[in-house]
Amino acid sequence: MSAAKATSGNLFADDPAFQVTAQTISVLPPLPLAGPYDYLVPEGLSVAPGDFVEIPLGRQTQRGVVWGPAKGDVESSKLREIYGVLPTEPMADVTRRFVDWVSAYTMAPQGAVLRMAMSVPDALEAPKPIFRFTLNRDFDVASLRMTPPRKRVLEFLGTHPPMEQGDILRETGAGASVVKGLVEAGAVQRLMVTPPSPFDLPDLSIPRPDLSDEQTEAADALCAGVEEGGFSCTLLDGITGSGKTEVYFEPIRAALAQGKQVVVLLPEIALSAQWLQRFRDRFGVKPALWHSEVGQARRRDTWRAVADGSARLVVGARSALFLPYHDLGLIVVDEEHEHAFKQEDGVIYHARDMAVTRAHLGGIPVVLASATPSLETLANVEAGRYQRVELGNRHGVAVLPSVEIIDIRSDKPERNRWITPTLKKRLVETFANGEQAMLFLNRRGYAPLTLCRACGHRFQCPNCTAWLVEHRAWGKLQCHHCGYQAKAPDTCPECGAEGKLAPCGPGVERLFEEAVETFPDIRIEVATSDNIMGPKAAAELVRRVHNHEVDLLIGTQILAKGYHFPMLTLVGVVDADLGLAGGDLRAAERSYQLLTQVAGRAGRGDRPGTVILQTADPANRVIKAIAAGDRDAFNEVELSQRMTHGMPPHGRLAALIISGKKENEVDEAAWRIGRVAPRGDGLMVLGPAPAPLSLLRGRYRRRFLIRADKGVKMQALIHDWLSKVKTPGSVRIQVDIDPYSFM
Ligand code: ADP
Ligand code: ZN
Repeated sequence: MSAAKATSGNLFADDPAFQVTAQTISVLPPLPLAGPYDYLVPEGLSVAPGDFVEIPLGRQTQRGVVWGPAKGDVESSKLREIYGVLPTEPMADVTRRFVDWVSAYTMAPQGAVLRMAMSVPDALEAPKPIFRFTLNRDFDVASLRMTPPRKRVLEFLGTHPPMEQGDILRETGAGASVVKGLVEAGAVQRLMVTPPSPFDLPDLSIPRPDLSDEQTEAADALCAGVEEGGFSCTLLDGITGSGKTEVYFEPIRAALAQGKQVVVLLPEIALSAQWLQRFRDRFGVKPALWHSEVGQARRRDTWRAVADGSARLVVGARSALFLPYHDLGLIVVDEEHEHAFKQEDGVIYHARDMAVTRAHLGGIPVVLASATPSLETLANVEAGRYQRVELGNRHGVAVLPSVEIIDIRSDKPERNRWITPTLKKRLVETFANGEQAMLFLNRRGYAPLTLCRACGHRFQCPNCTAWLVEHRAWGKLQCHHCGYQAKAPDTCPECGAEGKLAPCGPGVERLFEEAVETFPDIRIEVATSDNIMGPKAAAELVRRVHNHEVDLLIGTQILAKGYHFPMLTLVGVVDADLGLAGGDLRAAERSYQLLTQVAGRAGRGDRPGTVILQTADPANRVIKAIAAGDRDAFNEVELSQRMTHGMPPHGRLAALIISGKKENEVDEAAWRIGRVAPRGDGLMVLGPAPAPLSLLRGRYRRRFLIRADKGVKMQALIHDWLSKVKTPGSVRIQVDIDPYSFM
């Protein structure tokens, strides 16, 4: 812990809102249920807003951030003193305002949001210094009792820069006592050095690739935003393969050239090895990565390097938005339409929307990139709040793939088979041409449902309202919501019948089985989140596909994004109707986006691609829009339907999820909340209703959905509403502003 800084005057003297003396301050601890608490500053210690401090809290020692003037809700004689200030860069003003803003918007406590910005407690400690050893050139060696090991060490140090002890010992074969003796004798000096940042500065001298006219125009527009400075939000709207990444590298470079930091948010960071390589090619360095799989020591170093500004380029998942940037100059949100940006537990927030807010608070540009922008973003473009730059052509000679629809009702696969005769024929042709194909089925496991043909029993998760999915490779039934697993049985637990259990419907494992039987001579690989875990596995897969060690790739949505395989010319969507069934607000939009992304994997090189959609509903407007390649028409219909119902982006939504372990308590609480539900013009409250997943991880769940016109202050309304009801502590109420999940 560092000693006191200069003695304090009135810290917040400049702040007219601050009426209390500097002897009391408020400190926000990173705790899920907390707001700031008042503390005293001990005599002789000086703190400033944003300082990380150690405080007593209950019986524990906690760390928190000096948030501002004391609130004055506790008499100062009852306040406790802070222990001291931690040796860490203070949290920037903009980060603190961001925490407050996110807390107010999502209705999560400030402490819960701060916790995301202080996710690495170790990072608050001073880094351990390292010691290096060097020759003392003023020392008269003649006065030294010389031994062979001493001689070797002195000779070694005489010809090398300052070295760490481990390296000296390894190189000279001397023992640690030799070095120690030389230091004591004065022949060698010990230097204390602060560990260098693990992140190298980007190389800005690497020339940019030749951009097409269209790309140049887009890149120039984005760079202008960086050069002018100030807040701006621009949609980089370009078809798959149009070079969006190459284009947004240019404003990144411009921001780096200004000495600023840049963060790029990706929806599934762990799987973007190929993208990272392009990044390294362009900037000559590895960016600082930030996602759930980064190890603890690396997290600590990264957090510190972001805070002191030495990590200039950060690439991460949504949580990277909450890092304590020293001087952030640009945010890029790639695949901005992705629902993976919505965090569904703890603080429920949408990283794209919060990125725009963060940019606004910091007065910096933000770029949202997508081939299938969300309707929310398009509405913001329409309203003039966001700018738009467009890329309408694929890079080089590549063109968008042609799309064919197969009606599985007439072009029928065999029983318990899913590849239609036409798709099979196209696959055969593709392999014969020496090209690669991909089959897309967004279902992990072998079969989504297991049924007893004797009694009709269906295997259900004991903790969730969900079927158990068979994973034949592991011999298990698994719940995809809570992870519950059971051994796949041979007899029906209900009627005892043997050998009557039947898998219903396909998962990727079952499709793989079919593909192996149908194409015995080709090399097939399955890619799902079950076997492609982490960046290494993803990189390895990419390498094999690139080297054409794989002919047919079968996988789930993890294959939809970002990958660039030039020899992949055929994409077969095995069940194009899959995402459409859910019927939630965004089912059609999401399905359209996903299928467009999947389709976008085909024909990215110099050979044209084909996409085949297998459907039982060829007249569906999502299917038709994809076949026609008519995004605008699709969006127009979708938007007008939302408008009719006052749904986002035309109106606002929020959800309340009431949950608990005892069903009667949950029902009772939901009923009481429902009784005092707000009413009014431009407002509609639906519920309480059992959530579609009315049991999840052993908790019973009831939902309210609140729809309001744009002008309604949703948070204030919910706040007032909930303050009118008392519910038992065993019942949890979660507020989800702008919900994306309706489960
Ligand atoms: P998108 O993100 O729009 O799908 P990418 O940025 O991934 O497109 O570009 C598709 C492919 O084309 C990538 O392999 C990329 O390196 C290449 N590419 C795009 N623009 C250029 C360019 N101007 N020069 C060289 N290669 C390019
Ligand atoms: Zn479950």
